[in-house]
Amino acid sequence: MQALLLSLLFAAALLASMGVKFWLASRQMRHVAAHRDEVPADFASTVTLTAHQRAADYTLAKGRFGLLSTAFSTLVLLGWTLLGGLDALNGWLLEAVQPRWGDMAYQLSLLVAFALVAGALDLPFDLYNTFRIEQRFGFNRMTWRMVLGDMLKGLAVAAVIGLPLAALILWIMGATGSLWWLWAWAAWTGFQLLLLVLYPTLIAPLFNKFEPLPDESLKARVQSLMQRCGFAAKGLYVMDGSRRSAHANAYFTGLGAAKRVVFFDTLLSKLSPGEVEAVLAHELGHFKHRHVQKRMAVMFGLSLAGLALLGWLSQQAWFYTGLGVQPNLGAPNDALALLLFLLALPPFTFLLAPLTARSSRKHEFEADAYACAQANGRDLASALLKLHEDNASTLTPDPVYVRFYYSHPPATERLAALRLHGA
Ligand SMILES: [Zn+2]
Repeated sequence: MQALLLSLLFAAALLASMGVKFWLASRQMRHVAAHRDEVPADFASTVTLTAHQRAADYTLAKGRFGLLSTAFSTLVLLGWTLLGGLDALNGWLLEAVQPRWGDMAYQLSLLVAFALVAGALDLPFDLYNTFRIEQRFGFNRMTWRMVLGDMLKGLAVAAVIGLPLAALILWIMGATGSLWWLWAWAAWTGFQLLLLVLYPTLIAPLFNKFEPLPDESLKARVQSLMQRCGFAAKGLYVMDGSRRSAHANAYFTGLGAAKRVVFFDTLLSKLSPGEVEAVLAHELGHFKHRHVQKRMAVMFGLSLAGLALLGWLSQQAWFYTGLGVQPNLGAPNDALALLLFLLALPPFTFLLAPLTARSSRKHEFEADAYACAQANGRDLASALLKLHEDNASTLTPDPVYVRFYYSHPPATERLAALRLHGA
């Protein structure tokens, strides 16, 4: 009875979230198409019609592709769960691995096999995005060789870091009794904090080259800004983002001594020194307002709630059968429960997306206000406009789509807020 109820609830949530995604995407595409032929009045003197139409076409191409990949991933999710995909994979590995190599090897093999199959199913979509869409709009710089290299490095990183972590979590789940979820949460949280140090120093350099900012006058300018803001970072780095893509960005990463500011080389080549300073001031605004810490605190809280929920669900037979899987009788169910939980959760949490997006947009406004106080707001405005144009972001998004998905406010709102701060 409960199993049937869960099946129905899950199917309903899955269909509902797909329906909402389709509705939002078609709204966005209609809105952008309807405004394709005219640059919005606020931007008439700064954005050409050609650039505006290029942004519209890029948004539409991404939107159409998004519809296809949403439909496909909904089908895949249904295939894993109610249609018995995970059950079949599990049955096969349970027979093939567990008798010979034991419980832990079987559970790890289930996680690895799942990750490989899921990755292989996503691969055509990633490739189409890179070599068709990004290529067509002149953003892609990747070659097939680089894609293959990235994939192998990604697998190696997953094997070196992911496997031991998975083994640790599975061991905790099996060995620490009914409060395992609390211990697992402590391990997971510790791992996330460790990653903040490992990512910028060990992992990111596997994929990109990082060099100290070479331009002395820019460096002096940036350092005086950082001093004014009371920010002590170990380093200012330039990343060769242009190796993979023409999209430009800047970010702030790390923890403690591993803290650093990273500029994409694509960003430095497009912005004037004043604009770079303003963009950095915006990043420092995130730091000053403790946005990263706040987001992490929320994430840690949510993962604790999620693990506690899993702690209870994994004890219920209907949790497995309701999602299309027979629980194991002679072997631990931990890896199975973990996978099922990660598969089943997104359709239910999808409706929370607007909340996260809203808080992120609020953070962006706060960082912009900070940047206006510490650097030149007019520089920030012109940098934003340049980046918008270079990334072919649409100036006319659908308002509802924005509320749901946009982690950054649309350019119109952002520039209006900058004008209020005197830019
Ligand atoms: Zn920001």
